[in-house]
Amino acid sequence: MTSRMKTCIATVSISGDFRDKLAAIAAAGFDGIEIFEQDFLTFDASPREVGAMVRDHGLEIMLFQPFRDFEGLPDPQRQRALTRAERKFDLMQELGTDLMLVCSSVHPEAMGGIDRAAADFYALGERAGRRGLRVGFEALAWGRHVNDHRDAWEVVRRADHPHVGLIVDSFHTLARKLAPDSIRRIPGDRIFFVQLADAPAIEMDLLYWSRHFRNMPGEGDLDVTGFMRAVMATGYAGPLSLEIFNDQFRSTLPRLVAQDGHRSLLNLMDQVRAAEPALHIEMPAMPPRARAEAVEFIEFATSEAEKPHLEGLLAGLGFAAVGSHVSKAVTLWRQGGINLLVNTETRGFAAAAFVSHGTTVSDIAIRVDDAGATMARALALGAEQLEQATPAGELSIPALRGIGGSVLRFVDARSDLGQLWDVDFRVTAAAAPAGAGLTRVDHIAQTMPRGEMLSWTLFYTSLFDAEKHPMVDVADPDGLVRSQAIDGAGGALRFTLNGVEAARTQAGRFISDSFGASVQHVAFATDDIFATAERLRALGFPLLDIGANYFDDLDARFDLDPGLLARLRAGGILYDRDAGGAFYQLYSGTFSEGRFFEIVQRDPGYNGYGAPNAPFRIAAQRRAARPAGMPRS
Ligand code: MG
Ligand code: MG
Repeated sequence: MTSRMKTCIATVSISGDFRDKLAAIAAAGFDGIEIFEQDFLTFDASPREVGAMVRDHGLEIMLFQPFRDFEGLPDPQRQRALTRAERKFDLMQELGTDLMLVCSSVHPEAMGGIDRAAADFYALGERAGRRGLRVGFEALAWGRHVNDHRDAWEVVRRADHPHVGLIVDSFHTLARKLAPDSIRRIPGDRIFFVQLADAPAIEMDLLYWSRHFRNMPGEGDLDVTGFMRAVMATGYAGPLSLEIFNDQFRSTLPRLVAQDGHRSLLNLMDQVRAAEPALHIEMPAMPPRARAEAVEFIEFATSEAEKPHLEGLLAGLGFAAVGSHVSKAVTLWRQGGINLLVNTETRGFAAAAFVSHGTTVSDIAIRVDDAGATMARALALGAEQLEQATPAGELSIPALRGIGGSVLRFVDARSDLGQLWDVDFRVTAAAAPAGAGLTRVDHIAQTMPRGEMLSWTLFYTSLFDAEKHPMVDVADPDGLVRSQAIDGAGGALRFTLNGVEAARTQAGRFISDSFGASVQHVAFATDDIFATAERLRALGFPLLDIGANYFDDLDARFDLDPGLLARLRAGGILYDRDAGGAFYQLYSGTFSEGRFFEIVQRDPGYNGYGAPNAPFRIAAQRRAARPAGMPRS
């Protein structure tokens, strides 16, 4: 008889007072916590009361940590360390937990020697065993003599005591670039506990990196899945615990960090199961990550008053109104394979989005292989379903709460959702107009407070078969904007997440002006940007004037063919290139508190978003937004 693996999180991973943390951890679905003494030292309750409070939340204290600088000491320090351990054992018994984490020593007098450390752990195991307690040894990446899980295992193996086991931590193994496959040689029942953390790839001091930059599995760049595959191959069946030291998480709502943490563990174990089909993994099963086929539609929420301006822009982009919703004040605009909806309802999700953001993207529908399975996965990962009342005869399109209170929907061709345009709409035009040659949605750019970036990155990459690119910094004249691109299915799905801190950056002002995270721009693809540029000018679309300096700089950067440079200059087209190919961009000016449209043409091998051009775009949009008659400096 097996049972589901237990999930756990260290209380230091989350902000708030101890009671807030417990409530958030329990609500997110965890089974237990790792407890740090500092967590409750300032809390006005005895250890016994703290333990009872944890259990009142339905949680178990799975680990007490840390016990430092234990092994390898000469006497009398060695005796003192054993006495100190007895005091912590007293505390553990009052709290009601049986496992202590001992991290490898950084003590200047620690002598090293595997057998000496093993003898120390044997002595500690004897003391723990008398009380029915256990100790686990963890190699810190910066440990003085033991800084590799293989050495920690050798200490445990030679100690050969039933109350002494190994604790492995993905950060300590992966940060030192140790191959996790060496864990496969360790018997699973000798691993007492597994701690998990990811981290962004940054070259810095290991201790500083660990204390400040850890994040949830899947949010960083370490191969936590590879690590966990090795752990699961040993037959390990103990808790899966998050130990995340992250400055940002300490200032984020406890509930959100706990939710993301739980989601990251479920997603991680799902990835492990997919990669190691021969292993039996006692974690909830869920449909695989969804493969996006296309952006089916993008819906704009607006008002009767602001609608003419928005529809003027759409017409200028070559879109045509080709139909309307059967029961709602929603117009369908089409061009190529793109469907845009303009919603002026005064009730419902779109109306609420308009009230909080002004004219904005309120709803994004992604066409996937199986909308029902995608929804099931999202719910298994703890996403929030939006319940909706659907009039008889209309389709109920599955919906989740997305970024900034927007709606994310799924449609597919296999269910009746494939009849969306025939059932929910009256389409009057036989075919979508060719317009200005826009063919599909290339990417959707969502701007948000920087503290939300990791959360939404995890949301998209755990739900969709999509990968994140390395983060890039986009220079805004007044500060930096961090940009995280996520793409999947050969570019069928592309999101760029822009995280802002400084209120003075253009994106930062966007956040404050539009009251929170939302879509800042939508980019459409064309197969011929030069023809599209001409057509947009003929349609009177307000293209952004990028300025002559840009093209001089471009020439210096790329050593372009003079003919191409002249055409770019004439069309006002921005250009970028990498090893994979070329990328061309056109922009609109801004509307509705800084929103804009982009038109792109990308070579199949180019996978970026023209980040080097962003400062020029931002400067040009600022010049264009300045009221007439204002001084130009
Ligand atoms: Mg650890
Ligand atoms: Mg873009």
